[in-house]
Amino acid sequence: MLNAEIILEKIPGLKLLGGEPMSRHTTFKVGGAARVFARPKNAEEIAALVEICRSGGEPYAVIGKGSNLLVSDEGYDGLIICIGEDFSAVTVSGLEIEAQAGASLIGVCAEAKRAGLTGLEFACGIPGSVGGAIYMNAGAYGGEIKDVVTSVTVMDGVGSIVQISADEMDFGYRRSRISDGGLIVLSAKFRLKEGDPEQIGSAMSELMKRRVEKQPVEYPSAGSTFKRPEGAFAGKLIEDSGLRGYSVGGAQVSEKHCGFVINKGGATASDIMALCEHIRKTVKDASGYELEMEVKKLGKF
Ligand SMILES: Cc1cc2nc3c(=O)[nH]c(=O)nc-3n(C[C@H](O)[C@H](O)[C@H](O)COP(=O)(O)OP(=O)(O)OC[C@H]3O[C@@H](n4cnc5c(N)ncnc54)[C@H](O)[C@@H]3O)c2cc1C
Repeated sequence: MLNAEIILEKIPGLKLLGGEPMSRHTTFKVGGAARVFARPKNAEEIAALVEICRSGGEPYAVIGKGSNLLVSDEGYDGLIICIGEDFSAVTVSGLEIEAQAGASLIGVCAEAKRAGLTGLEFACGIPGSVGGAIYMNAGAYGGEIKDVVTSVTVMDGVGSIVQISADEMDFGYRRSRISDGGLIVLSAKFRLKEGDPEQIGSAMSELMKRRVEKQPVEYPSAGSTFKRPEGAFAGKLIEDSGLRGYSVGGAQVSEKHCGFVINKGGATASDIMALCEHIRKTVKDASGYELEMEVKKLGKF
């Protein structure tokens, strides 16, 4: 069975932890231990990890900043490949920004502002990585990642690296070709427009203010728990179903914004799942709408 020692023998110098609690790597702050947790710093290490898992028939999962993830209380019995700060270079050249998958989207937005490039303001408060933002086609305030991406460099399941143009990315509402599985985002290129750093800065501050006013940013969560159903808003449906503040254990429907399930303190992944199931059933009975989770689950539920 795959363990940290076996991997380290094959990839000396790799940053690796055994039995790492996933509650440390998710914004919900819940989740049991990953059998092995790796933080690769380059594409070669990522390819070697994928090869070790592929040849040994071991499960692996890729994560970024864990801001859209619910990991089960049992954890993950396999390898977590965390594409994070060790793989996060950002370069600006003319109107283009290239960012490695582990770069924080907030950091990329700050670079765009510094360089006087407009187009990414909508994303300035989304707390994920570039890889997670591409996977999810993250969006807010009328903008989506697909509006500014020109190409994405990915690694496939056998370690080959290919560039995919934005047209071939199959971007849709909170999905992309990456969410179909099998590909790891290594980097992305964004094309922006010339703008005024001061105006970009004030647009970002305004959007951040709206977030802080409307969203329960003071509690751990994974952002909007459910996708927006066609013709309605998840938060409004949940509120109209009488669920504002409803709790299961430490998980609660936020009183501030019903579209967010929050960890009020000491929540388990089971509490969060039980609450989500209750929300889905209650909303379906009250309105006929079937809510679908936006948050991705990892591990056994
Ligand atoms: C307070 C708060 C506010 C939020 N606001 C918004 C918002 O306004 N708009 C919005 O769209 N989202 C929002 N989110 C959700 C979240 O930040 C986004 O979905 C983000 O894009 C997830 O990025 P991540 O790096 O955290 O991905 P993770 O949560 O780590 O992973 C999410 C999915 O992406 C996959 N993935 C991650 N990195 C890679 C990679 N390199 N290659 C392949 N697959 C990968 C994972 O396997 C997983 O399935 C919010 C979350 C929080 C906590």
